[in-house]
Amino acid sequence: MNVLIATSEAVPFAKTGGLADVSGALPVELARIGVRPIVMMPAYREALEAGQPIEPVGVRLEIPIGGKLVTGELLESRLPESDVPVYLVRQDDYFDRSGLYGAEGQDYQDNCERYVFFCRAVLETIEQMGWSIDVVHANDWQTGLLPAYLATEYGQRPVFEGIATLFTVHNLAYQGSFWHWDMALTGLDWKYFNWRQMEFFGNLNLMKTGLVFADAINTVSPRYAEEIQSAPLGCGLEDVLRFRSAQLSGIINGVDYQVWNPATDDALAANYDVETFPQGKAVCKAALQREVGLPEEPDAPLIGIVGRFAEQKGFDLVSVVLQDWLQSAQVQWVILGTGEEKYEKMFRQLADAHPQKFALQNLFSGPLARRIEAGADLFLMPSRYEPCGLNQLYSLRYGTVPVVRETGGLADTITDTRSETIRDGTANGFRFTEFHAQALSETLWRAVKAYQDRPVWEQLIRTGMSQDWSWGQSALLYQELYQQIHQQTCSKAGTSHA
Ligand code: ADP
Repeated sequence: MNVLIATSEAVPFAKTGGLADVSGALPVELARIGVRPIVMMPAYREALEAGQPIEPVGVRLEIPIGGKLVTGELLESRLPESDVPVYLVRQDDYFDRSGLYGAEGQDYQDNCERYVFFCRAVLETIEQMGWSIDVVHANDWQTGLLPAYLATEYGQRPVFEGIATLFTVHNLAYQGSFWHWDMALTGLDWKYFNWRQMEFFGNLNLMKTGLVFADAINTVSPRYAEEIQSAPLGCGLEDVLRFRSAQLSGIINGVDYQVWNPATDDALAANYDVETFPQGKAVCKAALQREVGLPEEPDAPLIGIVGRFAEQKGFDLVSVVLQDWLQSAQVQWVILGTGEEKYEKMFRQLADAHPQKFALQNLFSGPLARRIEAGADLFLMPSRYEPCGLNQLYSLRYGTVPVVRETGGLADTITDTRSETIRDGTANGFRFTEFHAQALSETLWRAVKAYQDRPVWEQLIRTGMSQDWSWGQSALLYQELYQQIHQQTCSKAGTSHA
């Protein structure tokens, strides 16, 4: 089974969020179970500077974009510690920029053009390289055109015949919505610009395009797959998703435990596992407190947050609770993140006013994210919605108890601490339902109280650290899905490359 995974980011080449973690890890696990994946992504500046060995392939691409012909070049690398090939599409005018999608809080004006180019480059590469591909697996709006091209004009060419398409939604809120004249850049017939296909409220919508044209759709948790079939989490596309519900499924993301493992993580002050966490975490906590300038208090509960400062992540709730708690509670907070200015400004003011209790780390740093996962006692994710969420899974493995809102993948992975779940050994965190500051505050109090009950707290940590959220099971589900759509496509076309 040859699967081409087209993605706009992948660890260790370029990352803004969870999609990169998925694209860097899933293919390796797929290769382990016998799928032959090829990853394709843009050759961003960040990717070229990531320190990975990258070689030119000697293939030149010529892509018609609107009225012009844009040239590109193909580079080759590999996912670390694997044989999974990664092909990077180089086009410096589009991708040699400081950010992936924008700079200084503004999206790049030509994002539609950049990803039209990337999608067409993927297809031209298949043709030029003579690859025999069974499934094209597209991810999020940046690659939403791939299923459309394959279902329309490219699908007619012999090399593309019989290719099935899977479209994975990692976050429905980012839709790649562009003014209608960008339709001309795609090269597709204007007849597809209608409310059933590529048009959405007068705009060209690349997320909708992927949802409409793909043979199968999935999202990154079963709960989110349900939630997006109605408002508000359907973000306006709930009708399209309901219409396609027979082809829609949810597969929870996994964790790459090669990377996210407190027993081997070299970013930490001490390594530890499920046996040695009491000592190991104490060292990591003290080191984190020193690093971020909080007083070294071993017994003060330390709450950690890592994430994009966006409304999605529930930072409006955090700010209400934080302001309140900083006045009275003997609790420490460390927040690592960047994003919307209103949150950055407010957190900065609060951190300046309460340096003994709250440290803001206003940057993007993988190693610091790990040190927070290891050194904090609680990890807070009060998301408005969360397609899967990876940080709660990292927290479980690092022995940091997650406090989450019951939505999407958070609901699928975190079991609330109650007397029954303590008794049956399933409790691994704390959960609240209402998107409300009071609900968050009450749940945090429950968690802080449990922190003081050492045997219960250590049980929660042991349960979380022992759980297996690796890619194994999820990769098998992807493999099954690939096989299913491949067979359906073959029986329609009467061909097979398998
Ligand atoms: P999303 O993709 O919605 O941002 P996820 O929880 O799925 O959320 O994944 C977020 C990923 O990005 C995690 O690996 C997290 O550690 C990382 N991350 C987010 N913000 C930062 C930051 N400021 N520094 C380092 N890593 C970050």
